[in-house]
Amino acid sequence: MFFDTHAHLADEAIQLNLEEILKLAVNARVERILCVGTTASSSRMGIEIAQTVRFSPHVYASVGVHPNYAHQASDEDWKKIRSMAQEDRVVALGETGLDKHWDDCDWDTQVANLERHWDLSFETGLPVILHSRDCEMEMLEELEKASARFDKPLHGIMHSFVGAASTAERCIKLGLHVSFAGMVTYKKADDLRAVAAIIPEDRLLIETDSPYLTPEPHRGRRPNTPANVIHTAECIAKARGCSLSEIAKLTTANACRLFSVP
Ligand SMILES: [Zn+2]
Repeated sequence: MFFDTHAHLADEAIQLNLEEILKLAVNARVERILCVGTTASSSRMGIEIAQTVRFSPHVYASVGVHPNYAHQASDEDWKKIRSMAQEDRVVALGETGLDKHWDDCDWDTQVANLERHWDLSFETGLPVILHSRDCEMEMLEELEKASARFDKPLHGIMHSFVGAASTAERCIKLGLHVSFAGMVTYKKADDLRAVAAIIPEDRLLIETDSPYLTPEPHRGRRPNTPANVIHTAECIAKARGCSLSEIAKLTTANACRLFSVP
């Protein structure tokens, strides 16, 4: 059984065929999916999906504001996020984080947005899903600041990880989990596969980031869907020299523990 820890099921590319896409997932033994929000309104849609699709597959939701949308989030939106965090089937915050690839949102706003997710995480106990793009060092700095601010390990996921082994090690030390998406399957991604091979067993997660980042052998096909998480799992199993069923078992157990779900 597999747990896709990051899928944007509220994205139009998926929602149009949601029923069929969820059936494909169950056929591929992907029986748990975290539906990830990026704005107050997509978080709301994610909760609706998670509260409707309760089993086969089990869908859960995360609520939060993506760094590329942080400048658009009003105080009212953040109030909604705070209240949605209490709802049934909501098991995580985010995705949030930092992004220097796109300049949609100024840096200070991104940092403040990330900080309020940490405040809410320490208040509620919910883990934070972290997006980091083209700002590995700055991200580590902010994570270390957050951990120092609360004087506690961080509860969360470095999602769709593409960084260096040393960065992964620092994230692990801070208490975080590391999740791999389709990029780890790409032909030129030997370095990333080497990173996937050294993540401690109890911190490893897999995801699709649907509808983006379709893994090999389907790279380039859109939309990506949760059923494809199996290809990422296969690739990681090979990199770690273990069986697919071992990877399925440990990544699912890690996700269930992190999100406190059965
Ligand atoms: Zn995402």
